[in-house]
Amino acid sequence: MYAEQTATVSVELIELEEQYGAHNYHPLNVIIERASGAWVYDVDGKQYLDFLAAYSAVNQGHCHPAILKAMTEQAARVTITSRAFRNDQLPLLYRDLHEITGFEMALPMNSGVEAVETSLKAARKWGETVKGVPAGQGEIIVCGNNFHGRTISVVGFSSEQQYKTGFGPFPVGFRTIPFGDAAALRDAITPNTVGFLVEPVQGEAGIIVPPDGYLREVAAICREHRVLLMCDEIQSGLGRTGAMFAFEHEGIRPDVVTIGKALSGGFYPVSAVLASKEVLGVFSPGDHGSTFGGNPLACAVARAALRVIVDEKLAQRSKELGAYALERLRKISSTKIVEVRGKGLWIGIELNVKARPICEALQLRGVLCKETHDNVIRLAPPLTISREDLAWGLDQIAAVLEAA
Ligand SMILES: *Cc1c(COP(=O)(O)O)cnc(C)c1O
Repeated sequence: MYAEQTATVSVELIELEEQYGAHNYHPLNVIIERASGAWVYDVDGKQYLDFLAAYSAVNQGHCHPAILKAMTEQAARVTITSRAFRNDQLPLLYRDLHEITGFEMALPMNSGVEAVETSLKAARKWGETVKGVPAGQGEIIVCGNNFHGRTISVVGFSSEQQYKTGFGPFPVGFRTIPFGDAAALRDAITPNTVGFLVEPVQGEAGIIVPPDGYLREVAAICREHRVLLMCDEIQSGLGRTGAMFAFEHEGIRPDVVTIGKALSGGFYPVSAVLASKEVLGVFSPGDHGSTFGGNPLACAVARAALRVIVDEKLAQRSKELGAYALERLRKISSTKIVEVRGKGLWIGIELNVKARPICEALQLRGVLCKETHDNVIRLAPPLTISREDLAWGLDQIAAVLEAA
């Protein structure tokens, strides 16, 4: 009786969503009503291990108590002032970001793509006002198979046709080169090039790790030609790859970095651009803004979320658990696996079959993950996951992939 009633609730909720919501997603049919750490619970009380972590927005684990406390305390004091007035949290977030990342300045926004848009505007204005590129002529180089979000300008330089079809016309001034090919960057740079935008590891493309030395080489090329190296660390950053930032693996420092997702531990949309004074100094009052950007609730949440990443050594955990997971997954004997690759606790399993049915089979075994493209399973559990829970989840993956 109980199971029947709750199943009816699920059907009703799915029907409501299908009837009244735009169909721009194709979610697994699991209806989550609460979560804690690496585990989520559906409306029928069934529990699942979360191997997606909201695309790395909950690196700190779901509903982390320290972030929850910061959020509820701040929500009771003041949530938003707008940037028309100052608030007592934004300066402290600026200081924390500076101390943790070493960048001179930050500019707070909300969603990831807004941080990317902000970085594009910064690069163009830096090009005109500092580098001396003629007005309206700045070029930005991007990589094939990139993912930087969903606004018109950003999908305009995507190589994924579905992201673009029907949404043109798009802004000009972007040039695409293959990811992982430093020589292609050298060839594509012109006197008008102001920036090179790149994900240190391509996430949505299927956890594509570039060849060793790639970032080091592109950093040198950018420096030589006075082009801003702009790393999109919205998914790869904040501990996911086994370092605070993925660019650290190559010992380089980009000129501009975008962060988002785990910057709030999943409580609230918070993003930011990090850069030097020379770059972010190009903005004057009125040039750019956001009603919610830098609001005190967002800042208090982000400060707590950053503190958890540092205090719980999540980057180190990612490194250790990631090495363990890669080793375990590479022992799976399955004719369906083409490649297992990753960096830290961020792993792509490329298959020679469609990944969606595998994800659905994993759901039945209590593990949630999501395919990326047709044939890659992306694994990105919260970085707080215990080794035992991780081992259990990996066993489920092995069982599904080893089944005939
Ligand atoms: C998720 C993501 C974005 C976009 O973030 P939103 O918050 O969805 O706008 C941009 N770049 C990368 C690398 C991402 O993974």
